[in-house]
Amino acid sequence: MSFADVPGQEQVKRFLRGNLRNRSVSHAYLFSGPRGSGKLAMARAFAQAIYCDTVRDALEALDAQEASKPIDEACGTCISCRRFLHHNIIDYKEITLLKDKKSISVEQIRELQEELKFRPEERRKKIYIIDDAHTLSMSSANSMLKYLEEPGADQMAILLTPNERSIPATVLSRVQLVKFVPPNPHQLMAQLAEQPHEEELKILALQLAGNADDALELLAKEWFAEYRALVIELVKHALQQPAAAVVLLQQRLGKWKADWKKQLDWLAQMLELLFRDMIYHACQQSHKALFSAQSEWLQTVSMTRELSFWLRCAEGALEMRRKRIVNTNWQMMLEQFFILMKAR
Ligand SMILES: [Zn+2]
Repeated sequence: MSFADVPGQEQVKRFLRGNLRNRSVSHAYLFSGPRGSGKLAMARAFAQAIYCDTVRDALEALDAQEASKPIDEACGTCISCRRFLHHNIIDYKEITLLKDKKSISVEQIRELQEELKFRPEERRKKIYIIDDAHTLSMSSANSMLKYLEEPGADQMAILLTPNERSIPATVLSRVQLVKFVPPNPHQLMAQLAEQPHEEELKILALQLAGNADDALELLAKEWFAEYRALVIELVKHALQQPAAAVVLLQQRLGKWKADWKKQLDWLAQMLELLFRDMIYHACQQSHKALFSAQSEWLQTVSMTRELSFWLRCAEGALEMRRKRIVNTNWQMMLEQFFILMKAR
């Protein structure tokens, strides 16, 4: 893993490379940026560069005033790089949120603190990454302060969070903040380039998920492609015969039982996007539309109603998503939406 493998974030790379070259690596960093912006990959690339023998030899040669060029990127081939890539450096640790857990546990932090008591292997640093650092409990965060405040020269922490404002001020004041920018749509699409799915489906997944990791997860779902077709069918029915939309909804929803609530949420979001496309078509801005394969149908249908009708539909879909927090009967809410849609 090298900096070059992380898409975008040029400013962050320049900053971290500068830290390496100038030997000004801090004892604690906080990488803050939206999910999918490459924080973890960057943290790994940085850690590997710190462990890399080639980087270290070059810096030492420079210190000894031998003719040498500083290197600010892990070589990928030295013993340390290979050990890092094979998860074989005991001084390197990643703490991540365990599956189905809402916060990093006290035990995980206690275990880490136990390990930090030991000195690292010769000439190495102990580097630990805490992903989703905003989920640390206040007591866990406070218990880490000692390490963030009085670091040994042989320790380094990289905390990752989507938003630095959710990190306690006591922690924030002890770390070097590094801000990541949201990846641009072009970079996001590039991350999905190897996926076999059609372009429209990838764009839809990115729109819904907002980042490449979650979009990949969505694309892997069996029901995802089918739901795209389903929202179109539902709207077609609702405009003619609302009762048929309800029957269709009942038939299809029964098919995919797993994570059903989440699916309904995605379905409602797709609906919102479809109405947005109707608005684009009605306003002669069809080039912005997302459901490109349905372009002809969207164009024709968008003209059969006033623009205000589509605006009310889009608002209704948005409202439905807002209400999902308090309304537990999701399916009924969707059914009502389609029954009443024609009368909007
Ligand atoms: Zn190396």
